[in-house]
Amino acid sequence: MSQPFSIAIHGGAGTILRDQMSDELRVEILSALEKSVKAGHEILAQGGDALDAVVAAVKVLEDAPQFNAGKGSVLTNKEMVEMDASVMHGREMNAGAVTGIRHIKNPIELARDVMLISEHVLLMGDGAEEFAFSLGYEYTEQDYFFTDRRYEQLQSMKEKGLFALSEAKYSAEDKYPDDKKFGTVGAVALDKQGNLAAATSTGGITNKKFGRVGDSPIIGAGTIAENGNVAVSTTGMGEFFIRKMVAGDVAARMRYLKEDVHTACEHIINGDLKAMGGEGGLIAVDANGDIHFAMNSSGMYRASIDNKGNLDVKIYADE
Ligand code: ASP
Repeated sequence: MSQPFSIAIHGGAGTILRDQMSDELRVEILSALEKSVKAGHEILAQGGDALDAVVAAVKVLEDAPQFNAGKGSVLTNKEMVEMDASVMHGREMNAGAVTGIRHIKNPIELARDVMLISEHVLLMGDGAEEFAFSLGYEYTEQDYFFTDRRYEQLQSMKEKGLFALSEAKYSAEDKYPDDKKFGTVGAVALDKQGNLAAATSTGGITNKKFGRVGDSPIIGAGTIAENGNVAVSTTGMGEFFIRKMVAGDVAARMRYLKEDVHTACEHIINGDLKAMGGEGGLIAVDANGDIHFAMNSSGMYRASIDNKGNLDVKIYADE
C-alpha cells in the first residue's frame, strides 16, 4: 500500500466577514493559498521531505503581500518590519527559529537554516541576521516589506492607542476588511517517509513595541512536530498561545490521552483557549495524514490537499 502524505496551510485567522470582503481580495487570497499548498504538495508527491514542503509553502505566502509575513508584514510602533519564524521536523524533533528579523526576505528559510546548520534553536535580531549573512543571504531593504496598507493600519492603531494585535481599520476605501485578522502564515505536512513537519512565519502584531515577540517563533506555542503523533502551526493573539502552550498542548493530549487530532485541537481552540479569551486558530496533521483546521474566530485563510489528493481552499469558519 502506498504511504499517505498530505499538507495543510493557513494565512491567518480572525474577524473575516463576507459582507466586508471584496471580490478582488477574495480572488487574490484564494489564489495565493492554492499556489502555496500546491507548491508544498508537489514536493511531497515527488517523495520529498515534509520540512522542504512546509518551507516551500510558507515561502509563497511570505512573498504574497496579502499576508502578515515577509512582504506585507505589519509595522512596529517605530514603523519597522520585525519578523519571527520557526520550523520543526518531527523525526528528531529538531527545530529552528528566528525573531526580530528586519532584512531577510524569507525568514522561514533562515529558521530552517538555524535548525540545519547552527547548533542552536532560536536566534534573535542582529545576531540572527549576522548568521544569515555568513551563509550568503542577501541584505533586503525594509522598503521591500512595506505596503501602504500596513502603514495606514499602523497610523490607525496609533490613533486608537492600541498596542494589541489588530489589522486594518475598515473604511469604504479600504479593500481589506480585517479589523482583527491575525495574518500569520503556516504549514504542516506528512511526507511519504512518515515525517511530520511544521512551519510558521509572521510580522507579529501592528504597533508592537519593546521587542515584543509572539508565539510564532516559540516551539511548543506556535509550532510543533512529532513523528508518529502530530504537526501543528497556530495563528492568533500570541500572548495567549504562549501562555496556553497551544501547539505543545495539542501534541500532549494526543500523546498521553490518545485523543484524535480533531478532538485535541477542538478541546484547546474552542475550549481552553477560548475560555482564557484567546482568539485564533490552528492547522494540524496527524501521522495518518488526517488534517484538522480549528478556529474560534469568524474565519481563517486556509487550504489543504488531503491524503486522498483532494484540494480544499477556504476562508470562513462556517464553510
Ligand atoms: N501569532 C502572531 C503573533 O502573536 C500573530 C498572528 O497570528 O497573526 O505574533
